Amino acid sequence: MRPVLADVYAAAKVIAGVADRTPLVPSPYMSGVCGHEFLLKLENMQPIGAFKLRGALNAVAGVQAAAGVTCCSTGNHGRGVAWAARARGIRAVICMSELVPQAKVDGIRALGAEVRIAGRSQDAAQAEAERLVAEEGLTEISPFDDPLVIAGQGTIGLEIMASCPELETILVPLSGGGLAAGVAMAAKAIKPSIRVIGISMDRGAAMYESIRAGHPVEVEEVPSLADSLGGGIGMANRLSYPMCRDLLDDAVLVSEEEIYHAMQVLYYEDRIVAEGACVVGLAAVLNGKVNITGPTATIVTGRNLDMAMFTRVVTGQDVVLGDKVIEGKRYGA
Ligand SMILES: *Cc1c(COP(=O)(O)O)cnc(C)c1O
Repeated sequence: MRPVLADVYAAAKVIAGVADRTPLVPSPYMSGVCGHEFLLKLENMQPIGAFKLRGALNAVAGVQAAAGVTCCSTGNHGRGVAWAARARGIRAVICMSELVPQAKVDGIRALGAEVRIAGRSQDAAQAEAERLVAEEGLTEISPFDDPLVIAGQGTIGLEIMASCPELETILVPLSGGGLAAGVAMAAKAIKPSIRVIGISMDRGAAMYESIRAGHPVEVEEVPSLADSLGGGIGMANRLSYPMCRDLLDDAVLVSEEEIYHAMQVLYYEDRIVAEGACVVGLAAVLNGKVNITGPTATIVTGRNLDMAMFTRVVTGQDVVLGDKVIEGKRYGA
């Protein structure tokens, strides 16, 4: 069941001309910090603003049932599934709880998907998706624990290795692990000596804790600047957990303060507007948490951020995340 390199090549054909070939650009500032070339894979340039379109296109293309597809993600995976279903002319129903902000509901609707509001929790939304599968014949697409999704995300690994064969390390933002599993599998199949390191925020890092525990564990979800990295990996995880466990050379954590600073670095030094989830690789390097030995790349995974929050970060203001306050600091001050 584990996807292999041939599945990634097959996915590359499916997404060709739609979600492939994002730029891989050098960061002069980060290269100076590392003493080695440091490259940014710009998945923030994707049509939906995030890499998840790759996996969603591949998974939706693989769905046999004409009835349509469903998922529970209100974030980038929900956008990807909505976009891919519209492109293929099939129905997409995105299930969410009453607590989801209206802007997110509107964003998904604008991509042509139906929105189904069910109850006051993520569990209620999940139950509704399962009902749609059982009663209406829809196919549920997991954001990370699906072989076609993992193979789709793996196309990023193919493209990075084709552009820069001399690469030694890839730093991958890590949440449910579909991205890290696909990229590590593809890159290592092409170049076994490549190091692939997963990076998460230090509050609520489900995959990191699961790898340490030796089995999937649940973690408490707390607000983070890297909000796209929140959420669990599923206690019945079949693919992304064992693949990350076996393929990642290391998994490291960065703090909210380190993410805050790295968002400023990416903005002021590289002039890139991107989500907190994208800068965890930069944060790890800037704080000496990974040892860089040669050419290195990281993936700028998406741009779908809360602009009010982003403005606070780049202007050096305090940011409140639930019970945590990140003290403001102007860049360069
Ligand atoms: C989903 C997502 C990630 C993490 O991907 P996983 O496959 O869940 O590990 C990172 N960054 C962004 C912007 C995302 O949407």
